[in-house]
Amino acid sequence: MSLGYAKCFDPTGARYGIPTYPWRCVPDGYATRRQLRARGLRPGGQQVAAQALRPRFRRGPLVAYFYRLDCAKPVRPMTPAKRRALECANRARRTCPQCRTDAGYVIPTSLGVCVPCAYPDEQRAA
Ligand SMILES: [Zn+2]
Repeated sequence: MSLGYAKCFDPTGARYGIPTYPWRCVPDGYATRRQLRARGLRPGGQQVAAQALRPRFRRGPLVAYFYRLDCAKPVRPMTPAKRRALECANRARRTCPQCRTDAGYVIPTSLGVCVPCAYPDEQRAA
């Protein structure tokens, strides 16, 4: 049995449990996960707030899930603690284990030490 247009329209959720609209007729204030992502947002733990149905011939309807924009949260906010941890990790990667100075660049793993420590003779000659 195919799904008529009228059955796709259930803004109170009486039929489906959540507000349901025909495809491309979802009101403002809702966004799919993908649309949230495009705005730098994520659902943020909220439940699916609405759905859109598109009837398909001899098949179940195509369903898209929508989240409330006003409940969405920014994608992974950088906390001060996280920022500090990152800075610390970066500093450790720049510090030469031999001369203990910040080389100003990430120590190449192929050398294991900063360039002056790896090639002391060449540095003196230069
Ligand atoms: Zn060094």
